[in-house]
Amino acid sequence: MSEKQVVHCGSHGPRRRAYVCRHVAHGSGLGFVTPDEPGDNLHGWCSACERVRRACGGWDDESEAHAQIVLICDLCFEAARKRNSY
Ligand SMILES: [Zn+2]
Ligand SMILES: [Zn+2]
Repeated sequence: MSEKQVVHCGSHGPRRRAYVCRHVAHGSGLGFVTPDEPGDNLHGWCSACERVRRACGGWDDESEAHAQIVLICDLCFEAARKRNSY
């Protein structure tokens, strides 16, 4: 794992990077959407962000402004997924 892929999590120390919208990072029960084709990085966002993303036809300035993607670690990502999945 290269240093570029590492995030230093306040709870978990050096871990793999993951990106989520600000809603699922702190909320729960908001839905949890992941990309159809997962890339190298972990990504997840809530149902509301998915509605905006679809309305915008994908990620653009408007949908990204709504999501306000934050960087977290892979363990926090899994915790967010569990908290927010229906
Ligand atoms: Zn969201
Ligand atoms: Zn973490």
